[in-house]
Amino acid sequence: MGSKGETLPPPGSNQTYVKVSALNGGWVTLPERLFITNADPEALKTVPSMCFLIQRPRPGGGPPERIVFDLGIKRDMSQYAAGMQDHLSKRQPITNLPDTKASLEEGGLDPAKDVDYVILSHTHWDHIGMPADYPNSKFVLGSGTLHTVKHGAPHYPPEMFEKDPLPLDRSTEFPPGPDSPGKDLACATSQQTSHQWKPISTLKHAIDFFGDGSVYIIDAPGHLQGHVNLLARLGPEKWVYLGGDCCHDSRIITGEKEIAMYPDAHGEMRSVHSNLPVARTTIAMIQDFVKTNGDNVEWIIAHDKGWADNNQERFFPGKL
Ligand SMILES: [Zn+2]
Repeated sequence: MGSKGETLPPPGSNQTYVKVSALNGGWVTLPERLFITNADPEALKTVPSMCFLIQRPRPGGGPPERIVFDLGIKRDMSQYAAGMQDHLSKRQPITNLPDTKASLEEGGLDPAKDVDYVILSHTHWDHIGMPADYPNSKFVLGSGTLHTVKHGAPHYPPEMFEKDPLPLDRSTEFPPGPDSPGKDLACATSQQTSHQWKPISTLKHAIDFFGDGSVYIIDAPGHLQGHVNLLARLGPEKWVYLGGDCCHDSRIITGEKEIAMYPDAHGEMRSVHSNLPVARTTIAMIQDFVKTNGDNVEWIIAHDKGWADNNQERFFPGKL
């Protein structure tokens, strides 16, 4: 493992680095048996739905360009679709505040003015937040996301999505990942970014978001159509990998646990991922990547309570 060429590239001359801060996105309670193998059948775990602020120095000066990655849980629960209410009743207690808006304001930023891009790992209810808080941001989404919020996905029927949850006039999608299922769900070309997927380290499909090697979007399919991860360069040999919902418990990445299976309402076995074999491939991809790059990469999944508890000082205005 880790032969030359597989590890992350060294900084270029005049390399741009970004600042990353965790943002609060509320807390949700998960029955452990639905997420990990060998769980206590009664155990409930209240976990964060973490979001992140990425700040990149703007070429030519001025305030940094800012990305918010994921928007967490809505603070106004009445905005969820009627078809979501039963699911929400099984995820209590839920904490709505502080949310990304409150988190940004805590550090002196106004989500209505100071955020250039919102990128969503995926559009499950605990990641989609309140897009209306970001009336001037461009929304950039994984391929097939706009189709999914309208037509639903396996285990997530369209009734679970609120009507028109995303600002269509300000939303674009990344091009479909070359190996991703659901390529036919991609939007018309006019709504796609002009990025190209290229490999970085052991990750086969990455988009260099700004074109300067500071922020990469990683194709990470399986959990929900359009699921993406984000890799950010914080310094020479210092990176962070934001894994979204590739899994919901860090022990799946470390190999201590596996993805749970459980019967659905019709007695068919399912998992929390809409495409289980592909989700497994994505987890193996991340395991290989973090192993190859060792201490140069910190990885964080959205619902990692242990990370949130131990890294409070790295929430905005703090940073990684
Ligand atoms: Zn999810």
